[in-house]
Amino acid sequence: MGTEALLAEIAVEVRACTRCPLATRRTQAVPGEGSPLSDVLFVGEGPGGREDATGRPFVGPAGQLLTELLRSIGWDRGDVFITNVVKCRPPGNRDPAPEEIAACGAYLGRQERALDPAVIVTLGRYSLQRYLPRTRIGEAHGRLRRGGGRFVFPMYHPAAALHQASLRETLFRDIRGLPAALLTARQAIEEERAASAVVPTGQAPEASGAERAVDDGPTGNDDERQLTLF
Ligand code: URA
Ligand code: SF4
Repeated sequence: MGTEALLAEIAVEVRACTRCPLATRRTQAVPGEGSPLSDVLFVGEGPGGREDATGRPFVGPAGQLLTELLRSIGWDRGDVFITNVVKCRPPGNRDPAPEEIAACGAYLGRQERALDPAVIVTLGRYSLQRYLPRTRIGEAHGRLRRGGGRFVFPMYHPAAALHQASLRETLFRDIRGLPAALLTARQAIEEERAASAVVPTGQAPEASGAERAVDDGPTGNDDERQLTLF
């Protein structure tokens, strides 16, 4: 099945999902949207009021800022794929609970595998936690990292900049580094693929980033060291 069909299939399942208690209070689930050809996946926290009402991700005030951020580097919303850690709105926009994140994680995992993006941009800490569990956003933002077998580009959540004006500037500065980070990630992925292709038969090649399991666990930091060697 092609990427577009896989993403559509996941969306159908998400819209009908009752795997966690968030199902009972939602108006609409928000599976995510964007280009099935995208090499960049943006992962936010969870739908807010406007997302819940429309079934689309990042269409409220935080979404407006995200759209502006993308425009600032010449990208369009439709060029990338945008989704969230949880697909249904937590009541009153409270933080998603660990059980809800766990229940919904399989959908995000399937979206990751369907798209196989070179870079995952995490927006805020819940998204960052999925890929780099021990990492603090204050240290990690705006730099390409390796986590969960993926190249990850952590950013602050756009909603945070709506409450804290100084973060707005940080967000615009950080996203300016994203096109270069994407090139770096693509090149590293290509080199890894080439390297694993020449390993003599009988010798198991190191799992490449793309092939590695979703959670790297305690090896996440080693990956970052490895990145500097490329
Ligand atoms: N905040 C998020 O994290 N996701 C959305 O889709 C909207 C706001
Ligand atoms: Fe299903 Fe995720 Fe919605 Fe929970 S948040 S009901 S797991 S789609």
